Amino acid sequence: MSRCLNPFTQPGRWYRGVFHCHTTNSDGGRSPEAAVSWYAEQGYDFVAITDHNQLTRLASPAGGPVLVPGTEVDVGRTRLGTSYHLVGIGLRAMIDVPRETAARHALPVQDVIDGLRRAGGVVFVAHPYWSGLVLDDLVPLEGIAGIEVYNANTEVDVGKGHSGVHWDDCLARGKPLLGAANDDAHWRMADYGRAWTLLRAESLTPEAVARGLAAGAFYASSGAVLEDVAFDGETATVRVAPPGAQEIRFISDHRWGRRAVADGVPLREAAHTLRGQERYLRLEVIGPSGERAWTNPLFIER
Ligand SMILES: [Zn+2]
Ligand SMILES: [Zn+2]
Repeated sequence: MSRCLNPFTQPGRWYRGVFHCHTTNSDGGRSPEAAVSWYAEQGYDFVAITDHNQLTRLASPAGGPVLVPGTEVDVGRTRLGTSYHLVGIGLRAMIDVPRETAARHALPVQDVIDGLRRAGGVVFVAHPYWSGLVLDDLVPLEGIAGIEVYNANTEVDVGKGHSGVHWDDCLARGKPLLGAANDDAHWRMADYGRAWTLLRAESLTPEAVARGLAAGAFYASSGAVLEDVAFDGETATVRVAPPGAQEIRFISDHRWGRRAVADGVPLREAAHTLRGQERYLRLEVIGPSGERAWTNPLFIER
Protein backbone atom coordinates (compact mmCIF):
# COMPACT_ATOMS: atom_id res chain seq x y z
CA MET A 1 0.00 0.00 0.00
CA SER A 2 1.12 3.52 -0.52
CA ARG A 3 0.89 6.61 1.62
CA CYS A 4 0.62 9.49 -0.79
CA LEU A 5 -1.56 11.99 -2.49
CA ASN A 6 -1.55 11.47 -6.22
CA PRO A 7 -2.99 14.71 -7.70
CA PHE A 8 -3.96 12.84 -10.86
CA THR A 9 -6.62 10.96 -8.88
CA GLN A 10 -8.00 14.12 -7.26
CA PRO A 11 -11.16 15.96 -8.35
CA GLY A 12 -10.96 19.44 -9.83
CA ARG A 13 -8.81 20.87 -12.57
CA TRP A 14 -5.22 21.93 -13.13
CA TYR A 15 -4.10 25.45 -12.29
CA ARG A 16 -0.70 26.75 -13.27
CA GLY A 17 1.11 29.07 -10.93
CA VAL A 18 4.35 30.26 -9.45
CA PHE A 19 4.95 30.95 -5.78
CA HIS A 20 8.38 32.49 -5.53
CA CYS A 21 9.28 35.78 -7.26
CA HIS A 22 10.48 39.27 -6.38
CA THR A 23 9.63 42.85 -7.25
CA THR A 24 11.07 46.35 -6.74
CA ASN A 25 9.68 46.15 -3.18
CA SER A 26 12.82 44.11 -2.46
CA ASP A 27 15.59 43.34 -4.97
CA GLY A 28 13.53 42.60 -8.09
CA GLY A 29 13.82 44.56 -11.32
CA ARG A 30 10.07 45.01 -11.98
CA SER A 31 7.29 46.62 -9.98
CA PRO A 32 4.67 44.34 -8.40
CA GLU A 33 2.16 45.44 -11.06
CA ALA A 34 4.59 44.75 -13.93
CA ALA A 35 5.57 41.36 -12.50
CA VAL A 36 1.94 40.31 -12.13
CA SER A 37 1.00 41.58 -15.57
CA TRP A 38 3.80 39.54 -17.15
CA TYR A 39 2.42 36.38 -15.51
CA ALA A 40 -1.12 37.43 -16.49
CA GLU A 41 -0.07 37.70 -20.16
CA GLN A 42 1.37 34.20 -19.98
CA GLY A 43 -1.92 32.85 -18.64
CA TYR A 44 -0.79 31.91 -15.13
CA ASP A 45 -3.67 31.11 -12.78
CA PHE A 46 -1.98 32.07 -9.51
CA VAL A 47 1.10 33.97 -8.39
CA ALA A 48 2.67 34.55 -5.00
CA ILE A 49 5.05 37.50 -4.79
CA THR A 50 7.66 36.70 -2.16
CA ASP A 51 9.69 39.83 -1.57
CA HIS A 52 12.50 39.44 0.94
CA ASN A 53 11.48 39.81 4.58
CA GLN A 54 8.23 41.59 3.82
CA LEU A 55 4.75 41.00 2.54
CA THR A 56 3.89 42.71 -0.75
CA ARG A 57 0.16 43.39 -0.83
CA LEU A 58 -1.57 43.76 -4.15
CA ALA A 59 -5.15 43.13 -5.22
CA SER A 60 -5.65 40.30 -7.72
CA PRO A 61 -6.20 41.91 -11.15
CA ALA A 62 -9.54 41.30 -12.86
CA GLY A 63 -9.16 38.34 -15.18
CA GLY A 64 -5.55 37.92 -14.11
CA PRO A 65 -3.88 35.49 -11.77
CA VAL A 66 -5.11 35.03 -8.22
CA LEU A 67 -2.51 36.56 -5.92
CA VAL A 68 -1.53 34.54 -2.88
CA PRO A 69 0.20 36.48 -0.08
CA GLY A 70 3.76 35.33 0.49
CA THR A 71 7.24 36.22 1.65
CA GLU A 72 10.81 34.92 1.58
CA VAL A 73 12.80 35.29 4.76
CA ASP A 74 16.52 34.62 5.13
CA VAL A 75 17.04 33.40 8.66
CA GLY A 76 19.07 31.11 10.85
CA ARG A 77 22.56 29.75 10.49
CA THR A 78 23.42 26.55 8.65
CA ARG A 79 26.24 24.07 9.27
CA LEU A 80 28.35 25.89 6.67
CA GLY A 81 27.57 29.36 8.01
CA THR A 82 25.01 30.38 5.40
CA SER A 83 21.35 31.11 6.10
CA TYR A 84 18.09 29.40 5.21
CA HIS A 85 15.75 31.02 2.72
CA LEU A 86 12.18 30.12 3.66
CA VAL A 87 9.22 30.83 1.43
CA GLY A 88 5.94 31.24 3.34
CA ILE A 89 2.78 31.10 1.21
CA GLY A 90 -0.80 31.96 2.20
CA LEU A 91 0.17 34.30 5.05
CA ARG A 92 -2.58 36.19 6.85
CA ALA A 93 -0.04 38.77 8.01
CA MET A 94 3.70 39.30 7.92
CA ILE A 95 5.69 37.83 10.77
CA ASP A 96 8.13 39.94 12.75
CA VAL A 97 11.68 39.61 11.46
CA PRO A 98 14.53 42.00 12.33
CA ARG A 99 15.62 44.43 9.63
CA GLU A 100 19.31 43.79 10.24
CA THR A 101 20.69 40.77 8.41
CA ALA A 102 22.89 39.64 11.32
CA ALA A 103 19.93 39.70 13.68
CA ARG A 104 17.80 37.65 11.27
CA HIS A 105 20.55 35.10 10.87
CA ALA A 106 20.80 34.81 14.66
CA LEU A 107 17.15 33.67 14.86
CA PRO A 108 16.65 29.93 15.38
CA VAL A 109 15.29 28.68 12.06
CA GLN A 110 12.68 26.46 13.72
CA ASP A 111 11.18 29.46 15.55
CA VAL A 112 10.73 31.26 12.22
CA ILE A 113 9.14 28.19 10.59
CA ASP A 114 6.74 27.96 13.53
CA GLY A 115 5.97 31.68 13.22
CA LEU A 116 5.25 31.45 9.50
CA ARG A 117 2.91 28.53 10.14
CA ARG A 118 1.10 30.34 12.94
CA ALA A 119 0.52 33.19 10.46
CA GLY A 120 -1.14 30.70 8.12
CA GLY A 121 1.89 30.08 5.90
CA VAL A 122 2.85 26.94 4.04
CA VAL A 123 6.63 26.77 4.27
CA PHE A 124 9.05 25.61 1.58
CA VAL A 125 12.83 25.76 1.84
CA ALA A 126 14.04 27.65 -1.23
CA HIS A 127 17.00 26.56 -3.39
CA PRO A 128 18.83 24.25 -0.92
CA TYR A 129 21.79 23.69 -3.28
CA TRP A 130 22.44 27.42 -3.81
CA SER A 131 22.04 28.03 -0.07
CA GLY A 132 24.74 25.50 0.75
CA LEU A 133 22.36 23.40 2.83
CA VAL A 134 23.50 19.94 3.85
CA LEU A 135 21.42 17.00 5.03
CA ASP A 136 21.90 17.91 8.70
CA ASP A 137 20.44 21.34 8.00
CA LEU A 138 17.25 19.94 6.45
CA VAL A 139 16.42 16.77 8.39
CA PRO A 140 15.81 18.39 11.81
CA LEU A 141 13.36 21.00 10.41
CA GLU A 142 9.79 20.41 11.54
CA GLY A 143 6.68 21.72 9.87
CA ILE A 144 8.09 22.42 6.42
CA ALA A 145 5.98 21.24 3.49
CA GLY A 146 8.92 20.72 1.18
CA ILE A 147 11.85 22.15 -0.70
CA GLU A 148 12.43 23.63 -4.12
CA VAL A 149 13.73 20.75 -6.19
CA TYR A 150 14.29 23.33 -8.92
CA ASN A 151 14.83 27.08 -8.76
CA ALA A 152 15.30 28.85 -12.10
CA ASN A 153 17.05 32.01 -10.86
CA THR A 154 19.88 30.17 -9.14
CA GLU A 155 20.21 27.78 -12.09
CA VAL A 156 20.45 30.62 -14.63
CA ASP A 157 22.75 32.65 -12.40
CA VAL A 158 25.28 30.12 -11.08
CA GLY A 159 24.13 26.64 -12.16
CA LYS A 160 22.87 25.66 -8.69
CA GLY A 161 19.14 25.34 -9.25
CA HIS A 162 18.76 21.57 -9.01
CA SER A 163 18.35 20.17 -5.48
CA GLY A 164 17.21 16.64 -6.34
CA VAL A 165 19.92 14.97 -4.26
CA HIS A 166 19.02 17.05 -1.21
CA TRP A 167 15.42 15.95 -1.69
CA ASP A 168 16.29 12.27 -2.08
CA ASP A 169 18.55 12.39 0.97
CA CYS A 170 15.61 13.59 3.04
CA LEU A 171 13.13 11.15 1.47
CA ALA A 172 15.48 8.22 2.06
CA ARG A 173 15.47 9.19 5.75
CA GLY A 174 11.67 8.93 5.69
CA LYS A 175 11.10 12.69 5.75
CA PRO A 176 8.08 13.15 3.47
CA LEU A 177 8.96 16.45 1.78
CA LEU A 178 7.28 17.82 -1.33
CA GLY A 179 9.24 19.11 -4.30
CA ALA A 180 8.43 22.46 -5.92
CA ALA A 181 9.77 24.36 -8.92
CA ASN A 182 9.77 28.15 -9.06
CA ASP A 183 11.18 31.00 -11.13
CA ASP A 184 12.41 33.03 -8.14
CA ALA A 185 12.29 35.76 -10.78
CA HIS A 186 14.33 38.88 -10.06
CA TRP A 187 13.76 40.06 -13.66
CA ARG A 188 17.40 41.01 -14.25
CA MET A 189 18.27 37.90 -16.22
CA ALA A 190 16.27 35.20 -18.04
CA ASP A 191 14.83 33.84 -14.79
CA TYR A 192 11.09 34.16 -15.48
CA GLY A 193 8.67 31.76 -17.12
CA ARG A 194 11.07 28.89 -16.50
CA ALA A 195 9.59 26.89 -13.60
CA TRP A 196 6.09 26.54 -12.20
CA THR A 197 3.55 24.45 -10.32
CA LEU A 198 0.61 22.55 -11.75
CA LEU A 199 -1.88 22.41 -8.92
CA ARG A 200 -4.94 20.20 -8.85
CA ALA A 201 -7.78 21.98 -7.07
CA GLU A 202 -11.53 22.37 -7.13
CA SER A 203 -11.43 26.15 -6.83
CA LEU A 204 -8.97 28.95 -7.37
CA THR A 205 -8.71 31.06 -4.22
CA PRO A 206 -5.62 32.01 -2.22
CA GLU A 207 -6.75 29.59 0.49
CA ALA A 208 -7.28 26.73 -1.96
CA VAL A 209 -3.84 27.29 -3.47
CA ALA A 210 -2.14 27.26 -0.06
CA ARG A 211 -4.11 24.17 0.99
CA GLY A 212 -3.24 22.34 -2.23
CA LEU A 213 0.44 23.18 -1.90
CA ALA A 214 0.47 21.93 1.69
CA ALA A 215 -1.27 18.69 0.69
CA GLY A 216 1.04 17.99 -2.25
CA ALA A 217 -1.78 18.22 -4.81
CA PHE A 218 0.64 19.30 -7.51
CA TYR A 219 3.60 18.49 -9.66
CA ALA A 220 6.48 20.75 -10.54
CA SER A 221 7.53 21.61 -14.06
CA SER A 222 10.07 23.52 -16.10
CA GLY A 223 8.16 22.73 -19.29
CA ALA A 224 7.29 19.04 -19.41
CA VAL A 225 3.54 18.31 -19.20
CA LEU A 226 2.20 15.11 -17.66
CA GLU A 227 -1.09 13.65 -18.86
CA ASP A 228 -1.43 11.02 -16.19
CA VAL A 229 0.34 9.34 -13.32
CA ALA A 230 -1.08 6.16 -11.83
CA PHE A 231 0.23 4.02 -9.00
CA ASP A 232 -1.45 0.92 -7.61
CA GLY A 233 1.07 0.34 -4.85
CA GLU A 234 3.27 -1.85 -7.02
CA THR A 235 3.38 -0.45 -10.54
CA ALA A 236 3.64 3.20 -11.53
CA THR A 237 2.76 4.37 -15.01
CA VAL A 238 3.20 7.83 -16.45
CA ARG A 239 1.90 9.38 -19.67
CA VAL A 240 3.66 12.44 -21.04
CA ALA A 241 2.05 15.06 -23.31
CA PRO A 242 3.66 15.85 -26.67
CA PRO A 243 6.48 16.23 -27.50
CA GLY A 244 7.13 13.39 -25.04
CA ALA A 245 10.26 12.60 -23.09
CA GLN A 246 13.83 11.72 -23.86
CA GLU A 247 14.07 10.16 -20.43
CA ILE A 248 11.75 9.10 -17.63
CA ARG A 249 13.32 8.44 -14.25
CA PHE A 250 11.66 6.32 -11.60
CA ILE A 251 13.61 7.43 -8.56
CA SER A 252 13.67 5.49 -5.28
CA ASP A 253 15.99 5.28 -2.31
CA HIS A 254 19.34 3.47 -2.48
CA ARG A 255 19.93 1.72 -5.81
CA TRP A 256 16.30 0.96 -6.58
CA GLY A 257 14.65 2.67 -9.51
CA ARG A 258 15.00 2.78 -13.26
CA ARG A 259 15.61 5.00 -16.26
CA ALA A 260 13.48 4.64 -19.37
CA VAL A 261 15.34 6.25 -22.27
CA ALA A 262 13.94 7.16 -25.69
CA ASP A 263 15.40 5.24 -28.57
CA GLY A 264 15.06 7.77 -31.38
CA VAL A 265 11.36 8.52 -30.87
CA PRO A 266 10.44 10.47 -27.70
CA LEU A 267 8.67 8.39 -25.04
CA ARG A 268 5.00 9.11 -24.39
CA GLU A 269 4.58 6.51 -21.69
CA ALA A 270 6.56 4.35 -19.28
CA ALA A 271 5.85 1.96 -16.44
CA HIS A 272 7.88 0.59 -13.59
CA THR A 273 7.09 -2.15 -11.10
CA LEU A 274 8.67 -1.90 -7.68
CA ARG A 275 11.03 -4.67 -6.66
CA GLY A 276 9.84 -4.81 -3.09
CA GLN A 277 12.40 -2.98 -1.00
CA GLU A 278 11.74 0.62 -2.00
CA ARG A 279 10.65 3.17 0.60
CA TYR A 280 9.39 5.73 -1.85
CA LEU A 281 9.03 6.44 -5.53
CA ARG A 282 9.07 9.72 -7.40
CA LEU A 283 9.12 10.45 -11.12
CA GLU A 284 11.26 12.84 -13.06
CA VAL A 285 10.49 13.38 -16.74
CA ILE A 286 13.00 15.04 -19.07
CA GLY A 287 11.73 16.35 -22.39
CA PRO A 288 13.59 16.63 -25.71
CA SER A 289 14.83 20.17 -24.93
CA GLY A 290 15.81 19.39 -21.35
CA GLU A 291 12.53 20.62 -19.86
CA ARG A 292 11.46 18.61 -16.83
CA ALA A 293 8.57 17.58 -14.63
CA TRP A 294 8.90 16.31 -11.07
CA THR A 295 6.12 14.43 -9.26
CA ASN A 296 5.86 14.33 -5.51
CA PRO A 297 6.99 11.18 -3.75
CA LEU A 298 4.71 8.21 -3.27
CA PHE A 299 5.69 6.52 -0.03
CA ILE A 300 5.45 2.76 0.13
CA GLU A 301 4.06 1.15 3.25
CA ARG A 302 4.43 -2.56 3.80
ZN1 LIG B 1 16.41 33.04 -1.90
ZN1 LIG C 1 13.89 34.45 -3.89
